[in-house]
Amino acid sequence: MTTSKIDNLEISKLTEDILLVHQKKPPFYFSCSDGIIILPKKGRNANSIVLDLNIEPHLIDKLNDIYGPVTNYICSHGHMDHIAHVHQWESLGAKIHAPFPEHAYLLELHNFYIGFGFIDAMEFSVIKEFAEKNGYKECQEVIPFKPGHTFEFEDILIETIPLLGHSKAHVGFLIPEERLFHISCLGFDKNSPEKDGFGPWYGFAECSIEQYLIDITQTELIFLNQANFLTSSHSYIVKNPERAPFIYMRRKIAKNQELVDHAIKSHNLTNKSIETSNYLLRLDFFYPKRKMEGYLLEIYNFWESGIIRKHVERSKYLN
Ligand SMILES: [Zn+2]
Repeated sequence: MTTSKIDNLEISKLTEDILLVHQKKPPFYFSCSDGIIILPKKGRNANSIVLDLNIEPHLIDKLNDIYGPVTNYICSHGHMDHIAHVHQWESLGAKIHAPFPEHAYLLELHNFYIGFGFIDAMEFSVIKEFAEKNGYKECQEVIPFKPGHTFEFEDILIETIPLLGHSKAHVGFLIPEERLFHISCLGFDKNSPEKDGFGPWYGFAECSIEQYLIDITQTELIFLNQANFLTSSHSYIVKNPERAPFIYMRRKIAKNQELVDHAIKSHNLTNKSIETSNYLLRLDFFYPKRKMEGYLLEIYNFWESGIIRKHVERSKYLN
């Protein structure tokens, strides 16, 4: 069931007192992620708890008017679309929790710049511009937790599930008693069954395709055995025993590999050198970089070369 009391927000009821919230039109590419509001329930939690709902500040204010106060907010990882607006929840009184070591990216943009390795490829000013476009503001205080930690707020348990293929601190959220599983940014990014998306994303050096495949298998098992609903940062709601998200994510990774393998064969590339990766980067097959310029082009070049290098490394056509 969908209720829509606030313009530009889609609010879906997962259970009687747990909501999935989606900002329909984000102001910029990496400024928003869907997240969960756990409303108060007698004998469970007296105040609202929010999971990874990074949306524009004026929308956070409106949600807080209806569903607040929010005592605790848990962030899933340090990518821009999960950290930009968290400061607003903090200013409304929520304690902010985020996974170590990416919790530091909410405190200072420069940590984000160094932590994800942008520093090896571009000036800080590029990242500053990117952050400003996405509305990023710093938090004052963030409480770090270790991926895998279980939160206990009054009588509700929220397990964080490390899904580290996507980033070194990335977690999903399992609420066993409510049979809900939120897989955050793992790579199920279809906002309706008929739409396509990019799929799993692994553009930073720290990402790992091998770990991704393990994470997908693990989330599939958790979902099928322990949850009624599967939600994520950029997708529609999936009901058990639907396996489409897992088939989709594996297929996307395999297709990306095929794309790179095919290019390697048809261009007669012979080894895993940096030149091979750079050559493939110029073919523009993951992002339409020919249409880009300025800071955005620098960032997409960096991400795409990360993705390509991982597939080059795995290619059976190269030594
Ligand atoms: Zn992410």
